[in-house]
Amino acid sequence: MKVLISGASIAGPALAYWLTRHGFEVTVVERASGIREGGQAVDFRGEVHLTVLERMGVLDEIRAHQTHGGALDLIDADGRTMVGLPAWFTGGEVEIQRGDLARILYERTRDRAEYVFDDSIASLTETGDGVRVTFERGAPRTFDLVVGADGLHSNVRRLAFGEESRFVRDTGHHVAIFDAPNRLGLSGATRVYSEVGRGVSVAPLDGDAKANVMCVFAGDRPAVHHRDTEGQKRVLAEAMAGMGWHADELLRDLADTPYFYMDSVSVVRMDSWTKGRVALLGDAGYGATFGGMGTGLAVVCAYVLAGELAAARGDHAAAFAAYEREIKKFVTACQRVAGGAGPFFAPKSARALRNRTRTYKVLTAGPLLRVLDKLANKAATSIDLKDYETVPAAS
Ligand SMILES: Cc1cc2nc3c(=O)[nH]c(=O)nc-3n(C[C@H](O)[C@H](O)[C@H](O)COP(=O)(O)OP(=O)(O)OC[C@H]3O[C@@H](n4cnc5c(N)ncnc54)[C@H](O)[C@@H]3O)c2cc1C
Repeated sequence: MKVLISGASIAGPALAYWLTRHGFEVTVVERASGIREGGQAVDFRGEVHLTVLERMGVLDEIRAHQTHGGALDLIDADGRTMVGLPAWFTGGEVEIQRGDLARILYERTRDRAEYVFDDSIASLTETGDGVRVTFERGAPRTFDLVVGADGLHSNVRRLAFGEESRFVRDTGHHVAIFDAPNRLGLSGATRVYSEVGRGVSVAPLDGDAKANVMCVFAGDRPAVHHRDTEGQKRVLAEAMAGMGWHADELLRDLADTPYFYMDSVSVVRMDSWTKGRVALLGDAGYGATFGGMGTGLAVVCAYVLAGELAAARGDHAAAFAAYEREIKKFVTACQRVAGGAGPFFAPKSARALRNRTRTYKVLTAGPLLRVLDKLANKAATSIDLKDYETVPAAS
């Protein structure tokens, strides 16, 4: 079977890995001109995430590239630590820079799958036995199945299911991430400084030579397109202007940063993630983006989708039904824990800000942090993984 995957970030290459291993012929089309670097550290937690990474044979490589930070200090305007959150709580079992993970998954699949960069699907037409696909640049082609792994603003979702506004729910927070020189000379824990409606976090990187800066701010979705990087930088600079601690200094590097990512913190809600010969995977279908363990979710669900397709031996309708059934509880649980990240970094009122700091002081003073950690782990492990590896290769 020929499968076209839209999107080469995390979900796309993870699916390409499993599909090619099961004997499918895979093409991945990515709008960007190459694998997109950047982003902050993403963490994997609990035995489900680790089992899938191990079965993919990438766990050791991920461990070799893991960040050794993870601890997080909530600081006041003078830089004094008010609350310290330990690495085991913030970083999961293994934490890696998003860009490093994307590169590892791409390297593992580039020789087994066809990657087409700088292109995007223009139209999808289902015929009796396939999907006729036209592209913005390349010649039309026909595939047996199409999978949208193209993120929160999924193109495949729009073409096959309908407009984004029907499915994407904004939380009222936005997140921007960029790399900068470590001008503040920080080392050790990530520092988080928050004011009402905005927060900045700085994580030292690469032996403290660089810093990964994350800004979170509250507000309606700005009137700027999600691919207009310069416009987004302007919105960010306005949202963070005049902020205390060293925020202004950190934003000075915004213009020259090699990597910049900004998006609204949103949750995708859909009744079904498949339609005919089209399926959605990762953020495209059930993204809980920032704080929703979206990376672990994408990697695990790629394993399930490929496994069910292999097990159904060409019966995509049966495979898609099984995919939805297998991941439903898992997706719901992960989406439920997603809502907390925006309010944590950028509480919307003075009272919420005070309460946040007070709550975490109490949590870190006793055993309650372990309880909170268990809740996050419970969501990350709320799926019974089948062993699809015993399924013989599809022909
Ligand atoms: C550059 C970048 C930085 C990120 N940084 C962070 C971060 O710091 N923190 C965080 O929590 N999450 C971040 N994310 C999101 C995070 O990667 C996802 O939440 C999670 O890993 C699930 O991944 P995904 O593959 O489903 O979606 P995504 O990672 O969003 O990937 C979608 C991919 O599809 C591509 N694409 C989009 N439209 C089209 C199209 N029309 N045709 C073809 N390809 C298309 C995109 O270029 C991208 O490569 C980032 C995403 C990107 C792309």
